[in-house]
Amino acid sequence: MYPAPIESLQSPTTINEVLRQLTELRGITREGRDLRIGAMTRYVDAASAPELQGGAFAAIADAARLVGDRQVRNRGTIGGSLCWNYVAACTPVAALATEATLILSSLDSAGMVQSRSVVIDDFLTGPMETAREPNELLRTVLLPGSAERSGSAYQKWGLSTATLPVIGIGIRLWVDDQDVCKTAHVAVGGLANGSQRLTAAERMLPGRKMPMRKSPKPFGRPARPSISRATAGPLPTIAAS
Ligand SMILES: Cc1cc2nc3c(=O)[nH]c(=O)nc-3n(C[C@H](O)[C@H](O)[C@H](O)COP(=O)(O)OP(=O)(O)OC[C@H]3O[C@@H](n4cnc5c(N)ncnc54)[C@H](O)[C@@H]3O)c2cc1C
Repeated sequence: MYPAPIESLQSPTTINEVLRQLTELRGITREGRDLRIGAMTRYVDAASAPELQGGAFAAIADAARLVGDRQVRNRGTIGGSLCWNYVAACTPVAALATEATLILSSLDSAGMVQSRSVVIDDFLTGPMETAREPNELLRTVLLPGSAERSGSAYQKWGLSTATLPVIGIGIRLWVDDQDVCKTAHVAVGGLANGSQRLTAAERMLPGRKMPMRKSPKPFGRPARPSISRATAGPLPTIAAS
């Protein structure tokens, strides 16, 4: 993150700098209900991507929007954050909540491209450790959609808005027509043993009516509705709290 961006873009000196310039590793595309995010998609682009606003994938946009400061968001990437897997990083938590699957590629001894899929729970193996082999490139982050009503959110809390959080929470909920939770995916970051699912919370939420309430205002941000009114189709953003 620290090299001067303009210099490094003008004369790339590392593999990461080269990867950032490959357009096929960037961008967000919809595939039916699912989303495909190129690993080198920058936070600034994910934060404003129409495909990630509200509903099932909003946690990813929330995380991207809350990372660091403007310079960091202009440079950092969704894939870089997942491969780095720092204990308090925002993207791993949002990816756990949204059930991401990662596509990794490598070259075999014959020079052929081999790819494999790893679900995020298996990819994040511990603090700053992942299941990525040294010769593998993270190409794509796949996010599964849903025919059912679902919404997601990520929120971070810390000493400053412009740096890594003390704690971050990501959540995705599926609700029925009465706003009763059917299934929940909840994840937390900032613990010493790394980003992880909060299975106790996931067991507690199903069967509960999701309240219509305002979220707290971390960092003085305006409160957002915590969950949408019962309307057909996907839910807009909910705020993890
Ligand atoms: C001031 C500051 C504030 C920050 N605040 C936050 C914050 O609030 N929340 C947060 O989550 N993070 C924060 N960060 C971290 C930052 O946002 C980046 O997400 C993180 O450093 C990853 O950066 P990057 O995308 O440039 O990846 P890099 O630093 O380029 O890469 C990280 C690692 O992953 C590997 N890698 C990268 N891409 C791939 C790929 N496609 N395939 C295989 N391996 C790959 C690299 O080789 C490297 O080992 C902050 C950083 C700074 C400097």
